[in-house]
Amino acid sequence: MKDIEAVWQEMLSMLEVEVNSLGFDVWIRPLRPVKTDDDVLVLSSPTEMSKSEVSRRYLPFLKRALHEVDGAPSELVLIAEEDESDNAKNSAANISAVTRTVIETNKPVASTVNPKYNFANFVVGDCNRYAYAAAMAVAENPGTVYNPLFIYGGVGLGKTHIMHAIGNAVRMSKSHLKVLYVSSETFVNEFIESIRNSKGMNNMSFRDKYRNVDLLMIDDVQFISKKQATQDEIFHTFEALQSAGKQMVFASDRPPQDIPDLDSRVRSRLASNLIVDIQLPDLETRIAILQEKSQAAKANVPYNVLEFIAERVSGNIREMEGVLTKVIFLSRLSERKADLSMCQEALNDYRVQECDEITADEIIDCTCRYFNVAKADIVGKKKNKEIVEPRQIAIYLITELMTVPLTSIGEFFGGREHTTVMHARDKISAQVNSDGKTRTAVNDIKAMVLRK
Ligand code: ADP
Ligand code: MG
Repeated sequence: MKDIEAVWQEMLSMLEVEVNSLGFDVWIRPLRPVKTDDDVLVLSSPTEMSKSEVSRRYLPFLKRALHEVDGAPSELVLIAEEDESDNAKNSAANISAVTRTVIETNKPVASTVNPKYNFANFVVGDCNRYAYAAAMAVAENPGTVYNPLFIYGGVGLGKTHIMHAIGNAVRMSKSHLKVLYVSSETFVNEFIESIRNSKGMNNMSFRDKYRNVDLLMIDDVQFISKKQATQDEIFHTFEALQSAGKQMVFASDRPPQDIPDLDSRVRSRLASNLIVDIQLPDLETRIAILQEKSQAAKANVPYNVLEFIAERVSGNIREMEGVLTKVIFLSRLSERKADLSMCQEALNDYRVQECDEITADEIIDCTCRYFNVAKADIVGKKKNKEIVEPRQIAIYLITELMTVPLTSIGEFFGGREHTTVMHARDKISAQVNSDGKTRTAVNDIKAMVLRK
């Protein structure tokens, strides 16, 4: 059996991707692998409270991560650190006598679909109505109505959630169907692995895996850009599944025509049936989503607190959820009802601090790199469309990510009037809602700036 620390490190690297970053830092990272024996991995949590939080929120995640690690135990026990000193020396059988949570693991039926995301907890608003309707139709009649279904939209707006919801619905109502969800990264890695090991067999088993399913969902498909061999493989997988009447669902941060360096055969297949987008949620939808999340966490968060968060975090539901997670954490820790001061604290370390460090120069640099234009042009006098649009987007991002007076922004751009700055800001802000290309550009540049 594998070394306990190695198992845990592998699990951590999977969990880091799956769990939102705040949840990961607050709940998962503090866990310690204590020992493995009798096919049981014992994880210790610092306190009783954190143990019960971890078991309530993250059991399915831990369970799935454990499944994925080769040579790992098949069962998992959570204990609180208080118990650890007494029990770590005992066998797994003895641990059953102490306070603990056992996670049943039923190897080897690991599912790639996350039970946490379903239609019941997906909040429908104007921003995602079409995507929701299309996903429901696909879940009810896979392989018939909309095949393939292509869902696109900005980061953290619910694409992955809706794919898992399709998978869960199909697994519930048509349990005989084989459902496979993968990120395009997994697809690429497994494909490369299959080539590396190719003595014939592994390549076959890769193909078997992807061509013998009734529902194949590939997430974040924009990442296959430039990967010619993977694109070929997706093309052939596509053809095989389509001719067998099997359902495919793809998600991406942009529509097929905007994915660069994509083989035209693949592009046309991806776009060959229904394409739906998910837009930024309006305030009401954001509040409804927070209500859903706080109920799911069994936390009684007052409405004004949810509204406060929803008003301040608008571009990414995952971030908004992160702030809520922190507020709930602070409220549980202090054993007080969640209030606005906790929101302020959560917002402080979540975003505002990040934004404080951002400079106008960085935003302008990232915008120039994204559009491949010269900085001198963006801050200069040129009025052609290729320059004006990036300039306006940079201005918009500065107003969004920084707190600087409009007149100072004008100064960054060669002494432009504050009315020009206002005009640029309002124009792009409207375009973000109405035009997918602008939205993608804004989100991508924002991600570049925040990643720095
Ligand atoms: P994406 O794949 O588009 O980047 P995700 O599907 O991972 O985004 O969603 C990010 C987080 O936001 C998830 O926790 C998800 O549950 C939540 N979320 C997004 N949209 C909704 C919605 N309409 N209702 C409930 N939760 C949502
Ligand atoms: Mg996603």
